Amino acid sequence: MKCLTSHLRSLIRQCTRRSSLPTGRKIHAIILTTGLANIPTSFLNNTLLQFYAACGDTFSARQLFDKIPSFYKDYVDWTALMFSYARHTFPRNALHLFVEMRRGGVNIDDVVMVCLFGVCAHLEDVGMGIQGHGCAVKTALLESVKVGNVVMDMYGKCGLVGEVRCLFEEMDQRSVVSWTVLLDNTVKWEGAESGRRVFDEMPERNEVSWTIMIVGYVRNGFTCQGFALLGDMLSLWGSSNFVTLCSILLACAQSGDVIMGRWVHVYALKLMGNWMNIMVGTALVDMYAKSGRISSAYKVFQHMPQRNLVTWNAMLSGLAMHGKGTLVLDIFPKMIKEVNPDDLTFIAVLSACSHSGLVEKGWEYFKNLESVYGLKPKVEHYTCMVDLLGRAGRLEDAEILIKHMPMPPNKVLLGSLLGSCSVHGKLQLGERLLRQLVEMEPFNTEYHILLSNIYAMAGKQDNANLLRQILKNRGIRKVPGMSSIHVGGQAHQFSAGDRSHPRMQEIYLKLDDVIRRLRSAGYVPNTTLHVFSGIERDNTEGVEEKEQALFSHSEKLAVCLGLISTKPGTPLYIFKNLRICQDCHSAIKIISKIYSRKIVVRDRNRFHCFHEGSCSCSDYW
Ligand code: ZN
Ligand code: ZN
Repeated sequence: MKCLTSHLRSLIRQCTRRSSLPTGRKIHAIILTTGLANIPTSFLNNTLLQFYAACGDTFSARQLFDKIPSFYKDYVDWTALMFSYARHTFPRNALHLFVEMRRGGVNIDDVVMVCLFGVCAHLEDVGMGIQGHGCAVKTALLESVKVGNVVMDMYGKCGLVGEVRCLFEEMDQRSVVSWTVLLDNTVKWEGAESGRRVFDEMPERNEVSWTIMIVGYVRNGFTCQGFALLGDMLSLWGSSNFVTLCSILLACAQSGDVIMGRWVHVYALKLMGNWMNIMVGTALVDMYAKSGRISSAYKVFQHMPQRNLVTWNAMLSGLAMHGKGTLVLDIFPKMIKEVNPDDLTFIAVLSACSHSGLVEKGWEYFKNLESVYGLKPKVEHYTCMVDLLGRAGRLEDAEILIKHMPMPPNKVLLGSLLGSCSVHGKLQLGERLLRQLVEMEPFNTEYHILLSNIYAMAGKQDNANLLRQILKNRGIRKVPGMSSIHVGGQAHQFSAGDRSHPRMQEIYLKLDDVIRRLRSAGYVPNTTLHVFSGIERDNTEGVEEKEQALFSHSEKLAVCLGLISTKPGTPLYIFKNLRICQDCHSAIKIISKIYSRKIVVRDRNRFHCFHEGSCSCSDYW
């Protein structure tokens, strides 16, 4: 008998090592027929529990866990279940289990602590993190460098950078990881310059710390410093690994820094030749697409020797953002021959239809989602459809769709419909949506602005003013629009009416010139939609002031800097945090013609490529 149970245990352990869930389940079924598992001393249930936990079937693991009498449960069983929760399904249950462990007097070691703080960081649960910190002090586990590092990391992820620094200073022993956690958080929360001071102080550095510092520079627009450091790193380490290259490319995509991105591309080609690594290739596609170079993205994509689902999704959503809807629909059939599409794929496909006004095609894909591709439509897919119908002016159809949704609509979906109401001047629906949205998110100013646009369009200036008063009384401020442009190895950021740039005088002189030429080309500033441009006085000068405020919108200032600091004919790439306004959109169209420049603007939702007086979005955004 003893021999049989030990034989069965070793079989289960083999399944654990190979994470072979089906075989393990079969063995479990056989064991049930023998009744051996009911004898606690056989420890078969314990072995099975560890097997299910490791293979990610936390439900079965928990069932066995509850069956085993506490006397026969040891540290291994507890931690197996805790790790399974943390890694596979319900991270919060790992925290509950930790509390049970403490109450049950189960021994706790540094491995459990690392798991606990990992979960707290992931959930950004600082309350539980502080309790765990207390426990680590009491049990003297904080003396372990490993535990100290994860506590620091947890505080950093929760945004308490002061705590990170305190803990770091109190540590008796510090490893390169401790320094790296400090560096990472300093760069993230205090900027690249403060980060550099930590970096220079570090007694030793690994590839991770170098990468964090370079990425910090790129993300904050300091391309020159990023380049210098990358050069140092390469001469020190010989070459750079794929993870570093991908992190740099991701940072380039976020900041729109294509100079650095291109350099990494050339470097990757030298390193890998034609056999581009799939991760790096995908990061390149993403970087080029997000920094406005969609044709470069497509070229990299076509030349990749291997592509996976992530690559395809990056390509499709890139094309969608650039309004290349027909191309997305053209290559989609090729995709399903290579890989199985997932949720993200269809978000890209549907938003491509939306950005290109392909209503019927969008409907078709949406209807096929479950029947053909076996995917349950999620709220994101409904949002795409509502957006698609709303943009096309079919607001009634959008409302019907919302009524038939199996889940409640979220704020993104309703906000998108409100945006369509504002474009199509649907006053009543707009008012209804606003009421719903304000309940969900009382401090979001954008909804009020959209509704005020609807009022302004309907000629109800009084209501628009009332809304503005409400915002003012509540002390709600509008999110400031910011635009940035990369010139001379540096990102330059502007807010509306900004006067802080060192070349401010030249910029405003150029702006005067631009406006003069715009006016003679027949441009009329569109002031009706801008009741919230920050004008407080309502007098006869109002219109002129509104015009002035429109002229100094951040994207126009960025365009002017681009015009004065690059050679004639150089394309300009501008990144904006909010949606581009209608006035800037029509002004930049004309600028692209009179100054013969291609101007690409990435706003919050998509790309606009202005060329020869028209935009790639065909005024449909
Ligand atoms: Zn504007
Ligand atoms: Zn456009």
